[in-house]
Amino acid sequence: MQGEGPSLGRRCAFARLGGCNLACRWCDTPYTWDWTGRSDTGIVYDPKKELRVIPYTEVRDRLVAYDVPLIVVSGGEPLNQQTRLYPLVRDLRDSGHDIEIETNGTVAPDPRLAELVRFNVSPKLAHSGDPESRRIVGRALTAFAAVPGTAFKFVCRTAADLDEVGLLVEQYGIDSVWVMPEGRNQVAIDGSLARLRDPAIARGWNLTTRLHITMWGDRRGV
Ligand code: SF4
Repeated sequence: MQGEGPSLGRRCAFARLGGCNLACRWCDTPYTWDWTGRSDTGIVYDPKKELRVIPYTEVRDRLVAYDVPLIVVSGGEPLNQQTRLYPLVRDLRDSGHDIEIETNGTVAPDPRLAELVRFNVSPKLAHSGDPESRRIVGRALTAFAAVPGTAFKFVCRTAADLDEVGLLVEQYGIDSVWVMPEGRNQVAIDGSLARLRDPAIARGWNLTTRLHITMWGDRRGV
């Protein structure tokens, strides 16, 4: 189930790609990139255990076997592999699937992908701990903002974070904004939502919760 953003609640299958060019301290998938224990969990993951090279045809067949209408490609940062991602996306579109790619917005999208998918772009704010020069790439954000249907999803903790979002929205001409509470358990999510909901609505933005946490907790899928 897609737990976040415009497709919240839709049945889907996830393809999670390894590796990331950022290192957000609150990352909820550090097992995709954190080989040195930099995230808040402090856990050192072993890439030999976490990553596997799989031919795209096998990935495609396994996704199709789920028999769901929506495929979500996430990470890590999946656009680090976007050239190799294209044949998978092309085949899944040919088989009638809707496709969403979740990205941190630092890698400008391949125009061939932009014709086939919806991008859920999640630029990282200062509380991620990533340096601004790495997390905000103007050329990439401008390119995403120009792709019809792109949704921008901002992980926020406090109403002050919305000021930071507002600056990015203005600077890059972003017109589809989703505010999502940061949190890996229901108490944290509820607390953030209570702080964010009124100021986000007042700015004319959308809100999303994290439905998968509500339903299954912070459990890693298989
Ligand atoms: S960009 Fe996403 S996957 Fe990468 S460290 Fe940040 S939250 Fe984790």
